[in-house]
Amino acid sequence: MKLIVSQCVINPDEVRAGQELNLATDIADDATEQSIEMPRSVAYVPLINSHDHLVGNWVPRAGGQRPYPNSHIWVEDMKDSFSFHERNKFWLNDGSFDLLEPAALIIARLGAYKNLFSGCGTVHDHAPLQKDEYYDAMPINVPRRFRQCHSITMGNWWGGNPPEQEMELSKGEMPFVIHLGEGIDEITKGEFAKFKEQGLLRDNVLLIHGIAFTPAQIAEMADVGASLCWCPTSNYYLIGKTMDIAAALKHQVNVVIGTDSTMSGGVNLIAEFATIREHFPDIPAAELFRMVTQNAAKALRLHPRYGALNPEDTQNLLLIDQIEKDPFENLMELEMKGIQLLLVDGIPRYGDSWLLDHFPEADAEYTIFRTGNREKFVIGDPMEINDQIDAALDYHKDFPFLPF
Ligand SMILES: [Zn+2]
Repeated sequence: MKLIVSQCVINPDEVRAGQELNLATDIADDATEQSIEMPRSVAYVPLINSHDHLVGNWVPRAGGQRPYPNSHIWVEDMKDSFSFHERNKFWLNDGSFDLLEPAALIIARLGAYKNLFSGCGTVHDHAPLQKDEYYDAMPINVPRRFRQCHSITMGNWWGGNPPEQEMELSKGEMPFVIHLGEGIDEITKGEFAKFKEQGLLRDNVLLIHGIAFTPAQIAEMADVGASLCWCPTSNYYLIGKTMDIAAALKHQVNVVIGTDSTMSGGVNLIAEFATIREHFPDIPAAELFRMVTQNAAKALRLHPRYGALNPEDTQNLLLIDQIEKDPFENLMELEMKGIQLLLVDGIPRYGDSWLLDHFPEADAEYTIFRTGNREKFVIGDPMEINDQIDAALDYHKDFPFLPF
């Protein structure tokens, strides 16, 4: 199946007009030799959210004592919040973090849909490593090759080994993910040095937040080749400050973007772009695109097909409405309803329902619904998830990241 799109973003440095995309999928309609013209459309590789806690995607945000000097206080304080208690009615979080427990898996899948509806083909789920069935149950790509620690100060309280052991298990090949420097006090200011002393500052680490990092520490990260994940919405909300992005760009650290969960972050990755544009209007949209594609694929050690669009063999595609002439500015305007097609690993995940007819061999289950004046298809049944939550709560729960 071939699509002709108005604009095609190969990577942040190369844009083509009127490009033909060869959808490399054996479930597509190959009987029609003709290409399908997609007027007013822009093609990208799907976005990558480098930091989320899928099971934490409940609303509203928690944080009765904001701003916090460090996030460790919030982790405890959050347990008194309305959201935490309301979520407990559906899934009792007893601290064991076995996310294959049926109710936990339902919420985690809801969190994955948050990402799907904002154009993400991949989301990194920071939690103790789960069994394969967990990752297999997700509607988009949730990488399972990683090692992690919650934070250097709190350790792996939620599951997993001590950080040195986790680093060992990463064999220097898998990404090693850890919250670091999420605050403005002496504790969080000391975390980078502590991390380094333990011999953990290596090129496979993905440090989340880094609010407390000095420009010198950021330069050190760049020298080592480590990656830094920026979650400004969550940072402003909890701490009132975000990391030194100017220093990170100056020293050319591999910067990626994460939403965090909606317990502290914004609605989704699109909302994250809005926060960044509000506070940092001088950062070009193409650079933000780089952070959520190329840089993220590098940080998470994903196959290159997740980091750039391949028109000859398109297995991963985000096709959206063309609103703005500049394709990067266009992405900043993305709305859930404006996604024409999200294809991940050759499988259609979300999009305009008429396009699904061109995948006659698709054997996944799909749900059809309307949003605005558009009829959409989505893989699986996120409406059923919402119904299951409503049944447990005995009232309707509205999640702002769902388009229905
Ligand atoms: Zn986090």
